[in-house]
Amino acid sequence: MSNRHVTNTAHPHSDSPASPGNPVPAPDGRTYDLIVVGAGIAGLATALTAVTAVTGTTPRILVLDAHPAGGRARTNEQHGYLHNVGPHALYRSGALATLLGRHGVEVSGGEPPSGAAVMVRDGQGHPMRLSPAAMLRTSLLTPGERLRLLALFATVQRAKPAQLVGRSVDDWLAPYPRRVRQFADMLIRVSSYTDAPDVFDAGAAVDQLQLAIGPGVQYLDGGWQSIVTGCLDVLAAAGVEVRTDEETLTVRTGDGSAPVSVTTATRTHTAHAVVIAGGGPETAERLTGATVRGLDRITAPVTATTLDLALSTARPALAFALDAPLYLSAHAPAARLAPTGGGLVSLMRYHAPGADAGDPAVRRAELRAFADHVGIGERDVVHERYLHRMVVTHGAPTAAGGGLAGRPGADALGLPGVYLAGDWVGPEGLLADAAAASGVAAAQAALQRRASIAG
Ligand SMILES: Cc1cc2nc3c(=O)[nH]c(=O)nc-3n(C[C@H](O)[C@H](O)[C@H](O)COP(=O)(O)OP(=O)(O)OC[C@H]3O[C@@H](n4cnc5c(N)ncnc54)[C@H](O)[C@@H]3O)c2cc1C
Repeated sequence: MSNRHVTNTAHPHSDSPASPGNPVPAPDGRTYDLIVVGAGIAGLATALTAVTAVTGTTPRILVLDAHPAGGRARTNEQHGYLHNVGPHALYRSGALATLLGRHGVEVSGGEPPSGAAVMVRDGQGHPMRLSPAAMLRTSLLTPGERLRLLALFATVQRAKPAQLVGRSVDDWLAPYPRRVRQFADMLIRVSSYTDAPDVFDAGAAVDQLQLAIGPGVQYLDGGWQSIVTGCLDVLAAAGVEVRTDEETLTVRTGDGSAPVSVTTATRTHTAHAVVIAGGGPETAERLTGATVRGLDRITAPVTATTLDLALSTARPALAFALDAPLYLSAHAPAARLAPTGGGLVSLMRYHAPGADAGDPAVRRAELRAFADHVGIGERDVVHERYLHRMVVTHGAPTAAGGGLAGRPGADALGLPGVYLAGDWVGPEGLLADAAAASGVAAAQAALQRRASIAG
């Protein structure tokens, strides 16, 4: 992977001895227009928006990350296979794809496998095409249930998500037979990565289903690293400073329009505004010592266990469990993630918000057994990549919390000049789309402050 954007913490032009625990002012002592803490999707979206929103002067922007840029959108190479942080699909008409288009970041890729999927119920696999005609024939449902399922799909397509806000998925689906609800729950899990029908907001769920059923998703050539690299290219061309492997330790505000100070192990920087895009709310609270308001309106972090199987031969497989939170999809060869002729299958177990992932040996065996349903055996697997408990989103919108609109906003810390972005922030989208949309909103709020200070 290219690392040409990366500036590390060595400061050859500094004349002050900098050392961890002894931060010194940045060499030229100038105040940045904006400092972004975190170079994941949310931080990259913030910086992209800020750099192009200012006309006249070039804004001075610094992006800091404790690790290499990308966060959960990074991709790792192993023996010629490219592994995202678990299965990642880009929603074609979501906020992230829109942001990439707006800034000329080009990505390519392919569709998920479109042939027969395997539906697993009671431990038995049932091949089934994903079409209305196939649903009318499936032996998984009685004739009456099939009609109810088709009616439910029609309802989803026509529904106005705003009218469902405040109802849980369970409440919304209650009138349908149990086995029809299983299909709907499965589709909601697969599109939102959230397995919490008792609290998950039906408006947010249907919004996401419409994105998934309509324009659909794309698996990306080169993995999600292609998004990260593309964003970094645009930022580098615009003169944005990106410092990686430089952890932010504190973010401190003064009164009113005073600059915000950001301390890392070796430097203290000042900025007119700071956006904290460091993953979850606990990072923002730790850095500022303040409390994020509105966390009671979202769930605890939603996590998943994932297993990538690098395959010696391509296998366009797709499988969903109807009575368990399990999923499998071949991401290569749909996208270029495997050497020529090879394949890459990603499996996932969704967990309820805040839930423990259990025993790693049990989880791994469960996912391996699920791969049996599509005929993947030991001899097909070149290597595996197992991730035990990954945060998919730092909080899902709840019915009781008012759905997407109830999530904490960019200003939820209540500190002058400090704003938030992440996949748990703001009223738009889920997962990386929420990260992107909240990054855009946080940049806009930060620039408004800069303008009001300047004016
Ligand atoms: C298994 C899995 C599958 C997923 N699948 C999809 C999918 O198919 N589609 C989709 O849209 N989304 C998906 N997501 C979600 C998506 O990856 C995330 O929503 C998105 O990447 C979050 O971006 P972020 O910038 O908010 O946070 P992060 O990616 O977590 O980035 C936060 C960054 O902040 C940095 N940081 C933290 N603390 C500090 C500090 N003190 N100083 C400096 N830097 C700091 C971190 O190093 C990190 O780089 C998936 C997630 C997982 C785990």
